[in-house]
Amino acid sequence: MTHAERLTAKAVVVGAGPSGLLAAIALAEGGIATTLVGNPAPSDHRTTALMSASVTALETLSVWDLCRQHAAPLAALRIADDTARLLRAPEARFEAREIGLPAFAYNIENRHLVAALEAHVRGLPTIRRIEDNVTAIEAADTPVIVLESGIRISAELIVGADGARSVCRAAAGIEMTGWQYPQHALTFNIRHTRPHHDISTEFHTESGPFTLVPLPGLRSSIVCVVDPAEAQRLRHLDDSALESEIEARSHSILGKITLDPGRGFFPLAVETAKRFAAGRIALVGEAAHRLPPIGAQGLNLGLRDAATIAELAVEADRAGGDIGGSEVLSRYDTQRRTDVTARTFAVDLLNRSLLSGFLPVQGARGLGIYLMNRVGGLRRAVMHEGVDPAAAKPRLMRGEALR
Ligand SMILES: Cc1cc2nc3c(=O)[nH]c(=O)nc-3n(C[C@H](O)[C@H](O)[C@H](O)COP(=O)(O)OP(=O)(O)OC[C@H]3O[C@@H](n4cnc5c(N)ncnc54)[C@H](O)[C@@H]3O)c2cc1C
Repeated sequence: MTHAERLTAKAVVVGAGPSGLLAAIALAEGGIATTLVGNPAPSDHRTTALMSASVTALETLSVWDLCRQHAAPLAALRIADDTARLLRAPEARFEAREIGLPAFAYNIENRHLVAALEAHVRGLPTIRRIEDNVTAIEAADTPVIVLESGIRISAELIVGADGARSVCRAAAGIEMTGWQYPQHALTFNIRHTRPHHDISTEFHTESGPFTLVPLPGLRSSIVCVVDPAEAQRLRHLDDSALESEIEARSHSILGKITLDPGRGFFPLAVETAKRFAAGRIALVGEAAHRLPPIGAQGLNLGLRDAATIAELAVEADRAGGDIGGSEVLSRYDTQRRTDVTARTFAVDLLNRSLLSGFLPVQGARGLGIYLMNRVGGLRRAVMHEGVDPAAAKPRLMRGEALR
């Protein structure tokens, strides 16, 4: 392509992370010629616990077959109170089969998920893939996306999937609201000598959860939420000191531990866009919302965003309407607001109840976990809502193709 090239597109997705890749595939499968702009996502050592509805969407789009061998089922979830507090919660265990599922979620390394989505994109002739960065978006009746290479693309709908520092969000004039937590998350993947039996174990500590999430074979991913000073200390430990530390924190339930290369370090915050769409730009994934990695909600929300905007755009296209017009964008904003707000509230409540040194709050948290453990109906309702939110189920998540 020459630098001065001008292109037109019906839909442009900006950002080739997991949310953007899924949005591009869903739009293209729905019959909308789509351009996907973004350099291949940088190597990511994080993993994602994909809830069953997200897996259904990937199955519907024929992507799951490329993921399956890299994903481990989370058949049970164990929560253990590892605080030294006066009021400690009893240990709780949740089994997916109790709500008729083989697993609550499937944990997969982001690099495998992204590779599977990228491979599927390459096989779709209705997606034009441009490996480049967007530097600006010029507002107009039909906005123009300007790439680093000088290429300019005018588009009827722009899906901003360009992550936490979104250029699309800034171009749409959308602000974020939110807050920071006095916590950092450290992530790494490990090999271990004892099997995890497909059980995800979460130790609740005074500074946040320490979570072991199964990966295929004798491997697991770890998310360790600690205060900033402790995060700095752990971050600078050499491998063998960190391995001993993890073994101690996990009470050796997985036996001897060896670290895989690569460590992640993330300050914890909540950020939510004041609007999810404006000026022909719809925000999806971390461009629209950022959550602490507690309860495995972030990317599952991002995939629901992607499935929703694709569904609304395809519907408008079929009816001969404007796929990036105000009606589609306003429906998108309304449909995503409730889901994102509810998940943010739940994750925040869980995190704050852990951090609180206030005895009644600790008591209430312990009582909540006790009731969930003992009262079958409540436990099943909470499990259902955690993996399969009733209020937000785009068609792809129900197994219905957009074609
Ligand atoms: C420690 C940790 C653990 C987590 N665990 C889970 C979990 O178990 N389950 C879950 O659901 N979620 C989890 N999350 C959240 C999840 O990782 C994120 O929600 C997800 O990665 C966001 O994906 P995304 O595609 O929206 O954004 P990103 O992955 O950030 O992708 C954005 C892409 O846009 C590109 N980009 C940026 N700017 C431009 C530009 N100007 N032009 C073109 N491209 C651009 C970037 O290069 C990048 O490739 C976790 C998060 C953390 C921090």
